[in-house]
Amino acid sequence: MSTRIYNFSAGPAMLPTQVMEKAQEEFCNYHGVGNGIMELSHRGPQFTEVIKRAEDNIRELLNISDEYAVIFVQGGASMQFSMIPMNLMLPNGFSEYADTGTWAAKAMKEAKLFGEVKNIATSKETNYDRIPVIRHWKPTQGSSYCHITSNNTVAGTQYHSFPEKMADVPLIADMSSDIMSRVLDINEFGMIYAGAQKNIGPSGVALVIMRKDLAKRTPANVPTMLRYSTYIDKGSMFNTPPTFAIYMIALITDWLKEKGGLKVIEEINDMKSEVLYELIDKTGFFHCPVEPGSRSKMNVVFRLPTEELEAKFVKEAEIGGMLGLKGHRLVGGIRASIYNAMPMKGVEQLIDFMNEFERVNG
Ligand code: PMP
Repeated sequence: MSTRIYNFSAGPAMLPTQVMEKAQEEFCNYHGVGNGIMELSHRGPQFTEVIKRAEDNIRELLNISDEYAVIFVQGGASMQFSMIPMNLMLPNGFSEYADTGTWAAKAMKEAKLFGEVKNIATSKETNYDRIPVIRHWKPTQGSSYCHITSNNTVAGTQYHSFPEKMADVPLIADMSSDIMSRVLDINEFGMIYAGAQKNIGPSGVALVIMRKDLAKRTPANVPTMLRYSTYIDKGSMFNTPPTFAIYMIALITDWLKEKGGLKVIEEINDMKSEVLYELIDKTGFFHCPVEPGSRSKMNVVFRLPTEELEAKFVKEAEIGGMLGLKGHRLVGGIRASIYNAMPMKGVEQLIDFMNEFERVNG
């Protein structure tokens, strides 16, 4: 596909070309059936194999034991903001949230509808430019759960280690913008979740991986479609699931396995972000507002000397075949999202462009 260009958007984000081509090849006629996968019954043999493959791949890539359920839920990561407190807040209990950015704050806001919420750590007063030093805080005994956002898509920060595991306080992480970008020990978490549309698929589905015993907490008055147990008991097929989105997850996780798994993908992601930060730090022209120890390997944010230059940068980058570099509207600046599907070549093209832009405008 020679017409494909590099898309640095924060999500929906670019998917691997190889996967897009495979989907195209199978689009109208899935494995000789004469219909595309999205036209086939979710109860039929083809989709049954697809959803099983997606789950098996995820289990293999993240080394997930039977103690955990792997489920697909609609409503994006945002619906998880509500489902988590609805299902997991203990009766008359409280929960704890680390406020490390826009999305973390949104998750916390929803939880307040269901019980007491404690802000356990925050970097709000420094414009979310860092992850609060992990050794300075830990979940409180008796807390229903502790919620973190492993990668903050808007601020460009990421946890490079996680709070200490507490036996009876499940750690829950919103991994929407760094799921499957690095090796992870799932046993450190009670639950992780992610909207698929950045690293593992198109929009329309959220991946939830949770310890099965936690689903027993749900109060009786939580509606069927909002209960985790409904998805666990019915293999994410209580109702019609987003079949095409799950099919894309199957293809992308096939691709991740083919590449060599998360260790290999992590090495590539490390390299991509290192070269980009190296350039940003080397010049006086570009500037990264994020504290070095908290920088995201997925969303690299940086500033130019003026907003006019930033607008010019985004415009000229587009002409040069690099889309989606405008920072989030809340914070401005530039944001290069370099998820799994962004190849090193795309980052190299961006670096060449940055060097040239500085030479002309610096
Ligand atoms: N959490 C994080 C960290 C995100 O980056 C986003 C989306 N950008 C969301 C949650 C919300 O995801 P969704 O649009 O799937 O609800």
